[in-house]
Amino acid sequence: MSSWASDLESRGSGLRSEVVGMSDCLFCRIVEKKIPAKIVHEDDQTLAFDDVNPQAPVHTLVIPKKHVAAVQNCNAQDEGLLGQLLLACAKVAKQKGLAESGYRVVVNTGRDGGQTVFHLHVHVMGGRHMAWPPG
Ligand code: 5GP
Ligand code: ZN
Repeated sequence: MSSWASDLESRGSGLRSEVVGMSDCLFCRIVEKKIPAKIVHEDDQTLAFDDVNPQAPVHTLVIPKKHVAAVQNCNAQDEGLLGQLLLACAKVAKQKGLAESGYRVVVNTGRDGGQTVFHLHVHVMGGRHMAWPPG
């Protein structure tokens, strides 16, 4: 197991938790509305809120309400949830006026992927041209 993955396991956040509300998880606390966030979309399984440190004119995070650390912690039972996350991204992008101009959806995963918050989240970014490849 890679070191970032074993670090996840040792902290417990690598466990695929059915419990919403891991008290030490920042994004679970946002789901519980214990930490304020600018919420732009909510449905039964997902929540979207603006990033506190935006890297583009539009920068919104779309997360599952259920705690899942990262994509590799999902299994076949999460197929619907993963689909709903992407559909929520498209709704957010439309709501933010990005449907015509385009946008980027990004899931930073693990150490080399640049993940800093270990609750699965999809970045929806737009309002400027996105370079490729990313840094
Ligand atoms: P990552 O680096 O894990 O892909 O992305 C984590 C994102 O969460 C970063 O873009 C960071 O700015 C954002 N973030 C971290 N803490 C908070 C917070 O308390 N509220 C909000 N809205 N965003 C946060
Ligand atoms: Zn969480």
